[in-house]
Formats: sequence, C-alpha cells, structure tokens
Amino acid sequence: MKILVVGGAGYIGSICTELLLDEGHNTAVFDNLGEGHRRAVDSRAKFIEGDLADRKQIEAALSSTRPDAVMHFAANALVSESMRDPSKYFRNNIFNGLNLLDAMVATRVGRLVFSSTCAIFGPPERMPIKETAQPRPINPYGESKLAFEKILRWYDEIHGLKFVSLRYFNAAGASGNFGEDHRVETHLIPNVLNVALGQKPHLEIYGTDYETPDGTCVRDYIHIIDLARAHILALGAGESVFYNLGTGGGSSVHEVIAACRKITGRKIDTVEKPRRPGDPPRLIASSEKIKRELGWEPQFQSLDRIIESAWKWHQKFPQGYGD
Ligand code: UDP
Repeated sequence: MKILVVGGAGYIGSICTELLLDEGHNTAVFDNLGEGHRRAVDSRAKFIEGDLADRKQIEAALSSTRPDAVMHFAANALVSESMRDPSKYFRNNIFNGLNLLDAMVATRVGRLVFSSTCAIFGPPERMPIKETAQPRPINPYGESKLAFEKILRWYDEIHGLKFVSLRYFNAAGASGNFGEDHRVETHLIPNVLNVALGQKPHLEIYGTDYETPDGTCVRDYIHIIDLARAHILALGAGESVFYNLGTGGGSSVHEVIAACRKITGRKIDTVEKPRRPGDPPRLIASSEKIKRELGWEPQFQSLDRIIESAWKWHQKFPQGYGD
C-alpha cells in the first residue's frame, strides 16, 4: 500500500515507518520536526517537512503522495506538560488534527490509523481496561485525544472516512535502528537508562504513596515493535473501530527500576518525589478485542525484553539523534 505517516519522525512514527518499509509498503513521512528528528526518518522513506497547523501543507503532501491510508502520530503527548499548558494540547492535538482530516476529505483519502492513548480513560473502575470502559480523562492530553476520537466518528458518519483508533498503553523499547529520544525526556524507561548511562545523577520517583502493591504507579509497557505491528494490521480493518493496545500485564515504577538495574548491571540511584499531577495509579489494557478481530499477538511480552532493546539502543546512541 501507499502510506503517508504524519509525525513519522517521532518515536512511534519512526518505528512504524521502518516496519512499513520492511514489509514493502511505499511510505512517505510528513513531520514538522518540532518533536521529531530528521535522522529518525528511515532513509528509504520520502520525507516531506511540513506542519499540520497549515492546512495547505498537509493537503499538498496528500495530493503529491496520493496515499491509500494515513497514519497519524503528530501530536503532543506529555501528561505533565498538558497539565501546565492545556492550550498547546487542545490546539495541536485537535485543531491541527482537524486540518489533516479536512485535507483527507478534500483529497479523497479515506482511511486513517490514529494514535490514541489509554489516558482517555483516567482511573478505571475495572482492570484490565476494555474498550467498553467509560472514558473519564484526568488530564488535558487524554481529553484532547478523546475529543479527536469523537470527531473521527462524525467524519466517518458524514464523510465516510474509515479509521482505526489505537489506544496505546505505555510504548517502550526500540528497534535496532530507531528508539526513544525526546528533547525533554519525561518517560520512565529512558530516564532510568539515562541514569544508567551516567547522564543523570539519579531517577526521580514521582509518588510512593499510591494504592498499589509497592506504592508506585503501575503501567502496562508494550514493546514498540508489537505496537507497530498493530498499526500494520489496522490497515486491513474493514470498519471504523477503537482498540486498546497493551500486554495485559502491569509493572510498577520500582519494578521497572529493578529490571533496569539487572539488565544494565549499573547502579541506579533514586530520589523519592511527590506525585506528578495527572498520573492515574494503575493502567492495564485488555487487548482481547484486537487479538480477536485482527489476530494481533504481542511477541515481546516481558518487561526485560523491552528494556533490553531500549538499553541496546541507548548504548548505541547515547546522545540520541544528537539534535
Ligand atoms: N515516572 C517516574 N519518574 C520519571 C518518569 C516517570 O517516577 O522520571 C513515573 C510516572 O509518574 C508514571 C510512570 O513512571 O507513574 C510512567 O510514566 P511515563 O511518563 O513513562 O508514562 P505515562 O504513563 O505518563 O504516559
């Protein structure tokens, strides 16, 4: 297929692009390089530098590449930042995303795979979280993604735009070539590995008084390659649909640190800090629906495999993409 990956220079988009190319899809990347990195774009992909804030730019990219489907990763995705600057999240994730949808309608591109998040749910009543759980986001990031999911329903109903919305739990790990390098790193696993590399003196643990077995937050870490495979399967979905995407298992912050100590063999100092605003205590996915309907099966279930791949990448690229 011909695919346009919007936000393909970021962490998840870059690895989806790599996998699409590995599987023989004709793939182009559209990215403003605000969060992404030019070096994270696979050299086999055509690269178009452009910004979703400018409808003309995305419309021109769609007209020139004429894709069968779009994968949309271009968004801001930090819970903590969204609690300080909600406007940035609503503007970029909703308003700029609308430019993409309108440009798709105008150019008659009728299929979208959307990068959504478990943050749409907030603290759930039941675990693991199924697609039928009531969405009650507790931060503007989750709210912005939920709003976009609702918009997608209407674009399907009115314009016939078919979509698959994938609600990721915690994406982690790396491929051999591409990995996680955010300009301001807030994510747990890269932060712990940066301490292991000696680039940070210690890891700050945000909250040790949660109602979880060891007092720290529990998350469902999913290997980036498994996540990318789900996107490729989503290209074959018939009807518009929402899927939760995780492994069904959970690891606490303390467990992640212990696994990183074991895998890296390095000393990792920690400092206990207050809770980070907007963090739900526990988020674990039920991915039964995507397994049943698309035949998705995670290949890297264990936290160790995820951390091993991330550690390899961080050792190979200690300065990340260097920009
Ligand atoms: N966390 C932490 N120290 C860090 C980064 C994250 O204690 O330096 C915690 C964070 O509060 C959350 C968990 O690790 O409970 C996962 O955070 P991350 O930012 O990786 O993903 P999120 O679940 O927020 O998308």
